[in-house]
Amino acid sequence: MKKTFLIIFIIFSIALCSCNQIDEEFINCTSNDNLFSVHFIDVGQGDSTLLISPDNKTMLIDAGDNFHGEKVVDYLNKLNIKKIDILIGTHPDADHIGGLDYVINNFDVVYFYMPNKSHNTSTFEDVLLAAKSKHLKIHTGKSGVNFSLGKFIKCSVLSPTKNYSENNLCSLVIKSTYKNKSFLFTADAEFQNEQDMIKSNHNIKSNILKIGHHGSSSSTSEDFLLKVKPDIGVISCKHNNRYNHPSEKTLTLLKKYNIPLYRTDKQGNIILFCDGNEIFSYSKPLKL
Ligand SMILES: [Zn+2]
Repeated sequence: MKKTFLIIFIIFSIALCSCNQIDEEFINCTSNDNLFSVHFIDVGQGDSTLLISPDNKTMLIDAGDNFHGEKVVDYLNKLNIKKIDILIGTHPDADHIGGLDYVINNFDVVYFYMPNKSHNTSTFEDVLLAAKSKHLKIHTGKSGVNFSLGKFIKCSVLSPTKNYSENNLCSLVIKSTYKNKSFLFTADAEFQNEQDMIKSNHNIKSNILKIGHHGSSSSTSEDFLLKVKPDIGVISCKHNNRYNHPSEKTLTLLKKYNIPLYRTDKQGNIILFCDGNEIFSYSKPLKL
């Protein structure tokens, strides 16, 4: 019944509101239901994903590039979030951790995970300095690390399975599960990581797949897609980006398996809701 009301409310909101207003309405309705919500925040060419558990615990995976930190903080403020229970910096590339220092400076953070990979950039240094100034310990994320977001969301780190020298290969890949539904967040993991995850004993099957590396042709192998077997894919990238993400190859593969796709470059912020048995949204996936 609650869900029916939510859907009616959503349709009504879409009819009445402009895009920004729709976001505001959804921000309001995320906090009054026993739902798990996953927000793919539009940070242009980068990643930033916010998870809110049914018991209102928060997890932020990346915060976009340096100049997007403010946008991510604004987004969290609109949701009246005061504390980030789990913060993840998936790997040291600027399009993922660039905004993290701003986020750390603006919120209390309980747990902070990054891979065991340093990087010789001021962006990376800024994150370390922000964490240090808030006395925030950096925990090492790697395959085998498990944690919970509140009482209901189980999270497992599936990659990296070993030490790599290249940033993308160090990407923390996280599977989050709520009852019968699961979400796989792959950051910029590449083919090699996908093979490693297939070989591991982890169950990588997931209902929602955040497509690796902004849809790059160096991620999302057919093998991996068949093992994950997602119902829906999500790509985070900038419109007309200089990398030509997402690649035609990735889009063709998704089309081959009839996997509906959401894209931040075409749809802005994307919010998915999950009650543990179904996943739904106010916006429709794109036609492939
Ligand atoms: Zn990236």
